[in-house]
Amino acid sequence: MDPELIKDCVHCGFCLPTCPTYVLWGEEMDSPRGRIQLMDQHVHGTPVTDEMAGHLDACLGCMACVTACPSGVRYDRLIEQTRAVVEEEHTRTPEERALRAMVFALFPYRRRLRAMRLPMALSKRLQPLLERANPTLGAMAELAPPTARPVRLPPVVRARRRRRATVGLLTGCVQGEFFPQVNAATARVLALEGCDVVIPPRQGCCGALSLHSGREAEAKKFAMRTIATFERAGVDTVVVNAAGCGSSMKDYAEVLKDEPGWSGRADALAVRDLAEFLVELGPVAERHPLPVSVAYHDACHLAHAQGVRSQPRELLGGIPGLDLREIAESAICCGSAGTYNLFQPGAARELGDRKAERVLATGADLLVSANPGCTMQIAAATRRAGKGEIRVAHTAEVLDAALRGLSPQTLGWVTEDAG
Ligand code: SF4
Ligand code: SF4
Repeated sequence: MDPELIKDCVHCGFCLPTCPTYVLWGEEMDSPRGRIQLMDQHVHGTPVTDEMAGHLDACLGCMACVTACPSGVRYDRLIEQTRAVVEEEHTRTPEERALRAMVFALFPYRRRLRAMRLPMALSKRLQPLLERANPTLGAMAELAPPTARPVRLPPVVRARRRRRATVGLLTGCVQGEFFPQVNAATARVLALEGCDVVIPPRQGCCGALSLHSGREAEAKKFAMRTIATFERAGVDTVVVNAAGCGSSMKDYAEVLKDEPGWSGRADALAVRDLAEFLVELGPVAERHPLPVSVAYHDACHLAHAQGVRSQPRELLGGIPGLDLREIAESAICCGSAGTYNLFQPGAARELGDRKAERVLATGADLLVSANPGCTMQIAAATRRAGKGEIRVAHTAEVLDAALRGLSPQTLGWVTEDAG
């Protein structure tokens, strides 16, 4: 933990009302200011106690405090360094270790995830039983989306008009296996807007889950492989449609700062979120009317970590007939936060329920988010709420429907039918 970064905190407390765990529990040690104080204690010699690890593990890494802080405290850097220290110094129970080993042996590997898709979808029926056995297993069963039809993407999708850019597409682990239709829609939108889209077939994990969980060595390995993959692809920009992956890839230079030669290679890799890229490129394809009401959810790793808030709204608001609605408390995390909803299922459930209530209050037909974790989390919470259904989709799918003149009924999956 960098003491210089810790010193930047002037203890003003402006971050407190934006912190989801402080909002839930009102405990100083579950606020950004309190956690920075714990980091300071550790720097001054206090070992990582079970209690300290508990408060730090309870942080979602949502970065709402980074957005709110007037002193520019780099809590994002601090919590990443802190998680690595906790992983190294804190002894977890055998059960915790086994569950972590299972999650990290599964989620960053597409083939393993593919093999688990059907069992995970079927496990919904056993959810109460699994929940009683272990809350993490119960959460996995509850979150599993319906099994999507596999989509095989070609290595290159050519621009459908005069070429304006050559981009690489990160297909992602969870996005690629659970939401392959989102990647297909992303490639079509980019091609219709004049991009050659290169989709390296043997992409690995970008390292986001490892990085956000303090698994430094694993995150570095995944980052190096991803950089090398897109260097070979010879693209101008790598476009990412999953918020968590995009924010990690933009941080590669920091992740690899101690690896000779790699920081420069990371810096040379231009990474853009899909919405950010499309707004910078400017629209040329015709938007057909799409009469649908949309509640847009700000994924924390897009809004707080990447500062991408206006671009998705601009793209959605530019579709004729689309009624864009704001969700109250949009800056507060839905509780997904990478693996948070698996390892901290109680807090994640409370935040999910809070978010579902506000999403359903918009009365929108469709919930749109740009992060697969948020989509699964909010879908599960709206099912639990049992107050009506809402369909869920990605920004790319909405744009794709508008560009191809499809009916809004073709969009998204219904949360009530997910079982
Ligand atoms: S990252 Fe989110 S949960 Fe963690 S301290 Fe900051 S606001 Fe709170
Ligand atoms: S993190 Fe920033 S907003 Fe929060 S107490 Fe410290 S200086 Fe104030």
